[in-house]
Amino acid sequence: MCSGAIPERSRSRASSLPAVDDQQKRDARRAFKEAERGRAREAMVLDEAQLSALLDYLDDHLAEAGCDHTLRFTKAWASERGIESAALVRSVQHFGGYCDCEVVANVDPESIF
Ligand SMILES: [Zn+2]
Repeated sequence: MCSGAIPERSRSRASSLPAVDDQQKRDARRAFKEAERGRAREAMVLDEAQLSALLDYLDDHLAEAGCDHTLRFTKAWASERGIESAALVRSVQHFGGYCDCEVVANVDPESIF
């Protein structure tokens, strides 16, 4: 590590900040939501069509066999489609999907895409 670097001075804030008005609050809220969505997209390895296919697949199989509190159908779907199941498991767990029925319940495409 280089020890000779001179720390960069943080730029001083402008002294005449305008009062925060409603428009700015709306912009900030929108920016926050956009950032959330961006993070959600980064955490999800599937695209929108793949995720909806996975959720349909889980719906069908859970209706038949029920959830055994594992991600067996999620993993089976991944291997059928040549998707790395470890990466998919990380993705769905990021959204609170720790078993197949939780994937259906918690992984909401609308909050990601
Ligand atoms: Zn479950």
